[in-house]
Amino acid sequence: MSEKAASFREQLKERGLKLTTQRQAVLDVIIEHEGEHLSSEEIFELVRKNYPDIGLATVYRTLTLLDSMDLVYKLDLDDGCNRYELNKKNEDHRHHHLICMSCGSVEEVEEDLLESLEEQITREKGFKVTDHRVKFYGYCKNCLKNQ
Ligand SMILES: [Zn+2]
Ligand SMILES: [Zn+2]
Ligand SMILES: [Zn+2]
Repeated sequence: MSEKAASFREQLKERGLKLTTQRQAVLDVIIEHEGEHLSSEEIFELVRKNYPDIGLATVYRTLTLLDSMDLVYKLDLDDGCNRYELNKKNEDHRHHHLICMSCGSVEEVEEDLLESLEEQITREKGFKVTDHRVKFYGYCKNCLKNQ
């Protein structure tokens, strides 16, 4: 069992819930596809390959549960669906996303890069920044090359 799955099981136990095969299957798919920002429907299709009996509602409920436990993040990439990704360890501030307006690809920027902006906000507004969700829109390397 992966570290994420073990931590999930612990947290479920604290809430008096069980790590059912279905819950484990949903988490496993997200772990296997790290960095892909799968939508709930895509996750459902992948889980169904191994568990043909699972329902879409179960997958929705499990994703909401994982989100409430901070094991996954829900992302809104403005494409009309809920997408999910693993909550990365050692990430105080959330990483940024580069969204290509031509092919729809999503790339991650691991570095925060906003420290000086955050300091400036604290200095000028007296507001302490603890997190952010940054989406950059533009054109990816591949699309620029094929123009
Ligand atoms: Zn930051
Ligand atoms: Zn592109
Ligand atoms: Zn991401």
